[in-house]
Amino acid sequence: MVVFTPATLAVHSGRPSPDPDAPLNYPPVPASTFVAGGNSEYGRFGNPTWTAFEDALGALEGGRALAFASGLAAVSAVLSRVPPDGIVVAPHDAYSGTLQLLRELPLRDVRLVDVADTDTVVRAAEDASLVWLESPTNPGMAVADLPTLCRLDPFVVVDNTFATPMLQRPLDHGADVVVHSVSKHIAGHSDVNLGAIVTGHDTVHDELLAHRTSRGAIPGPFETWLALRGLRTLHLRMERSSATALELARRLAEHPAIERVRYPGLPSDPGHARASRLMSSVYGGIVCVEVRGGAAAADAVVAKTSLWVHATSLGGVESTLERRRRWPAESPSVPENLLRLSVGIEDVEDLWRDLAQALA
Ligand SMILES: *Cc1c(COP(=O)(O)O)cnc(C)c1O
Repeated sequence: MVVFTPATLAVHSGRPSPDPDAPLNYPPVPASTFVAGGNSEYGRFGNPTWTAFEDALGALEGGRALAFASGLAAVSAVLSRVPPDGIVVAPHDAYSGTLQLLRELPLRDVRLVDVADTDTVVRAAEDASLVWLESPTNPGMAVADLPTLCRLDPFVVVDNTFATPMLQRPLDHGADVVVHSVSKHIAGHSDVNLGAIVTGHDTVHDELLAHRTSRGAIPGPFETWLALRGLRTLHLRMERSSATALELARRLAEHPAIERVRYPGLPSDPGHARASRLMSSVYGGIVCVEVRGGAAAADAVVAKTSLWVHATSLGGVESTLERRRRWPAESPSVPENLLRLSVGIEDVEDLWRDLAQALA
């Protein structure tokens, strides 16, 4: 069997069979109901547009995918597996929406850890029901030892939103489930909210499918179609934004207005050696910086950029930035002066010029 590389899978997976006059792409299928006797029957149970996207993402991550209405709907579906008095281990600097949901669930304990500190995670995981990992974390940019942590006994979930399957495939390391906010890099154009899970276990797939059907957190066919269209160029966008992010991170690290840069591609970054082993040659499009002078100085930088858009979210073709602590739900362990930069695919010198004048 020929094993294709991710770039080829991104382009060719999830397509109709090449019969004469078949379209090259599955069209979006807006249908609330289907003629009885087939596999879908009703719009909440299944849709051919979902299947096309799921086949493509599943091929990229090396498992079976399910699309959800948003990243957080996917997170919520996975966390529904934890029993009411269960213990969850999670990064202290994880995505704020995930941390918020963990606070709301009736759990015995949520142990917030530094995922870069492998021994601490291993100890915290001993009697846990589920280990939640992000690598890199959003927005702490901590890099986890996935080969060690994915093999822990508890159910291990990796939110792979930042790295995408173009940089790393956690299921290959033994993770039970991968979660994505497809709204970010995979859809890639800041015009879709969508989520997904991918797993190598058929039973887990079937349980999460049943959960999606019964709870109703289903994606729209048009959103899923747009996400698959975005996924076709994921490799190109990740290459370009990673190359630009590395160059900007290098320049920011030398800038007097910047106290600290977190980017795993920088040799000086604490996650660099690990990321170099685990990621496939590039380090992603997200750079976090701490601005000298605190929150007010960081807000002033945001106010002075013009090409960089002040906006939350990340992973679009257009570069955006924001001060994360402007959100009350953001983890208090995230510094007040931290700006998260989502590097798009514009010209690197145009991006630098705008940043440099804002920092001046
Ligand atoms: C945005 C994000 C989510 C939530 O996804 P939505 O699509 O916004 O619901 C989950 N995890 C990470 C790492 C994210 O960046």
